[in-house]
Amino acid sequence: MEFYFLNSNEQPPESSTHKHEHELHRVDCPFFPDESEKFGPYKTSQEALLAARIWTSMKGYDWFVDGCAECCPEIDSDKQ
Ligand SMILES: [Zn+2]
Repeated sequence: MEFYFLNSNEQPPESSTHKHEHELHRVDCPFFPDESEKFGPYKTSQEALLAARIWTSMKGYDWFVDGCAECCPEIDSDKQ
């Protein structure tokens, strides 16, 4: 089980393929965000991604939640 952290600040446009992209990180990521929302603990990053997307929509934010290429490549849609 692990905690996941959603960056409160959006990715700069040149490093993202979606508008208002916010990335999800693991606690040991070298690109760990300064400000973040904590989710978890979850067994998989897929569960964390889903929870973060539900939280985002409940908040009414127009964020696109994506995985970090460094620590959560299995849920990073920019890689596809
Ligand atoms: Zn990361």
